[in-house]
Amino acid sequence: MPRKIAYGANAASEFQYPENSLIITTTTPDIYEKWLNYMGIKKYEIYDKVTPDPAIETIEEIKRKFEGKEISTYIGLGGGSSMDVCKYLGKLTGIPKILIPTTFGTGAEMTTYAVVSFDHKKKLLQDEAFLADTAIVDPYFLPGTPFNIMRNSACDALAQASEGYNSKLGNPFTKLFCKEAFEILDDAIINDKQELLPYGAMLSGIGFGNSSTTLGHALSYVFSNEGVPHGYSLSSCTTVAHKFNKSIYYERFKKVCQKLKFERLTLKQSLDEAADVIMPDRGHLDNNPIEVTKQDIVNCLDEIVNKNPLQ
Ligand SMILES: [Zn+2]
Repeated sequence: MPRKIAYGANAASEFQYPENSLIITTTTPDIYEKWLNYMGIKKYEIYDKVTPDPAIETIEEIKRKFEGKEISTYIGLGGGSSMDVCKYLGKLTGIPKILIPTTFGTGAEMTTYAVVSFDHKKKLLQDEAFLADTAIVDPYFLPGTPFNIMRNSACDALAQASEGYNSKLGNPFTKLFCKEAFEILDDAIINDKQELLPYGAMLSGIGFGNSSTTLGHALSYVFSNEGVPHGYSLSSCTTVAHKFNKSIYYERFKKVCQKLKFERLTLKQSLDEAADVIMPDRGHLDNNPIEVTKQDIVNCLDEIVNKNPLQ
């Protein structure tokens, strides 16, 4: 876990930010100027051109652009993409990083994982150097989040908690966090208590971040590569994976996806081609509770795109 976690109402406004920080965000000035005002941050640089599923070229461009500017700290402010860029940059330069989620789903502020695209393919990386020096989790950023982003983020957090619970790398400590995260997130969505999402996503990050995600995430990347948002693709992928794994969370996960009104996914490439892309993803598949063959992957994809797993 990050050495310092500042959590709760006003956590982001009470924090003392170092001068000459570089803020990295995916959002637009009309939104982040309000945020920076709330945070009371002064004397900073900003890079606001990060796009979802950031490419290694973007990260290298930022590194070049701010070389020689004596940046003291990176501040990742936004969803998973902003934080992942900070994580990778921090590894390249050794500059400390503060991660501040504004969408509450990936739990990236808590983990040693980063997802970066190489040659238009998303790759899951893990490195101790990706860990935040400080994570700030403040529900201030939640109101005003568009419904689509909120539900995709919530679905990701829930998928991570439940896949993490079933991961072969899990242990009683990680299961404790995954289980509690699932209960909180499930309550937040089923009973319309959105204010619980930041805490649930944070616990999910601690739980799966110290175990792993599994088959659901492995299946999802072929859909992400065709432009489906991460959390959206997990609605069907993790449901089908939980069914395959006979997970204790299958029914409850599906029920949450139904409540969030996710629709069926489509795939442009053939199931066989997609399975060939998924099979080398050992980081996810080797930690799945049950061994997965290529035929199993094809069957899961068939269920996702040709039947409606959320019905
Ligand atoms: Zn995820």
